[in-house]
Amino acid sequence: MHIDFLSVLPEIFEPVMRLGVVGRAATEGRFTWRAINIRSFSTGRHRMTDEAPFGGGAGMVMKPEPLVSAIRWASAHGPDVPAPPWDAVDTPAPSTREVREGRRVVLMDAAGPPFTQETARRYAALEHLVLVCGRYEGVDERVRAHVDELLSIGDYVLTGGELAALVVTDASVRLLPGVLGNVASTLEESHSGGLLEYPQYTRPRDFEGALVPELLLSGDHAKIGRWRRQQALVRTRALRPDVFSRLTLTEEDQRLLDEADGKPPPPRRKRSRRKAS
Ligand code: SAM
Repeated sequence: MHIDFLSVLPEIFEPVMRLGVVGRAATEGRFTWRAINIRSFSTGRHRMTDEAPFGGGAGMVMKPEPLVSAIRWASAHGPDVPAPPWDAVDTPAPSTREVREGRRVVLMDAAGPPFTQETARRYAALEHLVLVCGRYEGVDERVRAHVDELLSIGDYVLTGGELAALVVTDASVRLLPGVLGNVASTLEESHSGGLLEYPQYTRPRDFEGALVPELLLSGDHAKIGRWRRQQALVRTRALRPDVFSRLTLTEEDQRLLDEADGKPPPPRRKRSRRKAS
């Protein structure tokens, strides 16, 4: 997988992208990335990437030409080509965008659909992800026709799309094959199976009087699995009723919830006897 960040502040990415799990994954060559300065595609001495909005109003709006040129350049140049120098001006770019299956150009935008674990999974299956980061009051409306989708990381407004792009990268890269040692952790964690994760405990058994549930020390993995499913259900219902309402509960899930609520189990059905013919 290759990720391109298009930004007027490309310096933001390096410190985050070289640390932790994501940094190690990049060093191991599990994915590649480039930070492309949108300013490299601006024209003129002043390297302008923003202008005052038509019709008046507060702030500045990102101009379409350098942004769209940066999108076209990123779409036409594979990971082996380094980003244009950040102090470059008027970098040549193709006049159209090369559209290819396996590549998505995503505009970070507070008005876009919300980022979810499902989106991260979809992006982790791509060959090329181009994350376009706005700044100032946002981007000229006409840029939207040059991207495949918009994406918001939540219902609040950031000063720029860079942190949002890093959030998307972090969540997507950890799903790439080989990035996390334990694949099971991505299958059981919050939002993977439509549930929040069950509570986790480690040493010490007694932390200031708060004890680890006895069952987890039993070594009975079937019982532990059942308890964890029950806890995940109870926790999701309590903390995220919106997520819970989208679940399709199995009979066993309903039994686990009833048990947690102290409801008596339903009477067992008698087996019907076949009449001898
Ligand atoms: N005027 C814009 C609006 O009302 O939606 C906000 C512009 S914001 C100050 C500048 C840039 O930050 C946006 O163009 C976008 O790229 C990014 N941004 C802000 N909030 C975001 C969010 N919740 N998710 C993704 N990107 C966001």
